[in-house]
Amino acid sequence: VKTDYDVVVIGAGGAGLTAAITAAENGASVVVVEKMAAIGGNTALSGGEMAAPGNWLQQKEGIEDSTDKFYEDVMKGGDYKANPELVRVLADNALSAAEWLRDDIKVDFEDKMMFFGGHSVMRSLVPHNESGVEIIQKLKAKADELGITVLTNTKATELVESDKKVTGVKATTKDGDVTFTASKGVVLATGGFGSNIEMRKEYNPEMDEKILSTCSPGSTGDGIVMAQKLGADTVDMSYIQTYPTCDITSGTLLYVGDVRLAGRSILVNKEGKRFVEELERRDVISKAVTEQTGGVSYMFWDEASMEASGVKEAHPEEYERLIKEKHLVKADTIDEAAAFFGIDAEALKKTIADYNQYAADGKDLEFNKRGKLVAFGEGPYYIMVSQPSVHHTMGGVVINTNAQVLDKDGKAISGLYAAGEVTGGIHGTNRLGSDAIADITVFGRIAGEQVSK
Ligand code: ADP
Repeated sequence: VKTDYDVVVIGAGGAGLTAAITAAENGASVVVVEKMAAIGGNTALSGGEMAAPGNWLQQKEGIEDSTDKFYEDVMKGGDYKANPELVRVLADNALSAAEWLRDDIKVDFEDKMMFFGGHSVMRSLVPHNESGVEIIQKLKAKADELGITVLTNTKATELVESDKKVTGVKATTKDGDVTFTASKGVVLATGGFGSNIEMRKEYNPEMDEKILSTCSPGSTGDGIVMAQKLGADTVDMSYIQTYPTCDITSGTLLYVGDVRLAGRSILVNKEGKRFVEELERRDVISKAVTEQTGGVSYMFWDEASMEASGVKEAHPEEYERLIKEKHLVKADTIDEAAAFFGIDAEALKKTIADYNQYAADGKDLEFNKRGKLVAFGEGPYYIMVSQPSVHHTMGGVVINTNAQVLDKDGKAISGLYAAGEVTGGIHGTNRLGSDAIADITVFGRIAGEQVSK
């Protein structure tokens, strides 16, 4: 195989493919090495939604937004622990990154948005099928068109340094070890460490094996460890996010639960009571769920909400599986649905009546739920059980606004760039939903641009 390139990208998720495309468009020869048999990483497992302030759908619907508002939401959502310079870059470039995905990469965005927790306005674009697979497939098609080599089953094990510059990557393949040389530089895009339980515990003992994970098995923090060997600094490593409403047996994300992000469901406990604002930050909801009976929550919605949200049409296989596994029930009456999970039916009916009153009055007196409140109507009704699962690691290697990896003295390590979940400092203590796709696209493009100079 050819082993000498201008640029080596490690990891074929959204950040890596974006960096590779941008570098190739600048004339660089590029190889992407991916350790798994398939490309995509956590990006492909995600819903692919992307926060983009001032986007075309907001304009159409008359929703006022600005880069400053988004900046403030990201900072606040991470308890002001994020690096303001990096957040500024994210906020200022999120819309152009979305337009790049739409116009250059031909990502098909749907004609609707989602309202993710912690954002102050609805601003998140939704790719075709509400899936990150759409983004990965289109990025891959563009990479192919540009002649980028993408090698799967190729695991990077070590960064090669000569004369204080990163000049290559050692990798293992089925046919043995290979060293790739990179005349211009290396981009780390290896994702987070949500699937590495030992590493999770090392930085945050609460995130132990009892908590399942939504992450790809490839999310084991390899890039962080490789960079640390060259003296790279890390930041925010203890901030590990759980997604509040995941599968109670496998830990995976549940896309049927996106009915919540359409603003059309409530979360109740076994006692039939709401216990948190349904569009709060993920960390806040997760913590609240953990404190409820059995450590689970029950999501409730009606038939009109099912139809309005479109989640069943978008995710029919997941819907059928949840019904079969008895994690989701569809019933004609609230009593019947509640009985299925042993929820206090009288209390639940009172909760729903109260909520409908809040909707009529336009104000949620209990949890001040954001967005437009819609009353629940006729059956059938749905209840889905779920629990929190490790989803995103906010911490990672320290980068500057040029996506250069920094050492402990704050100096750039020559030839080493990073983008995506492998980096830290962009989300503070807690990443808001749909900010990861914005992050990986914005910083993936910067890394690709800088490494190919
Ligand atoms: P991001 O959202 O930051 O792009 P993803 O999780 O989508 O992150 O993608 C990261 C990719 O990097 C995954 O496909 C993962 O399998 C891959 N990866 C992780 N470690 C290595 C490694 N050591 N060598 C090659 N690929 C790796």
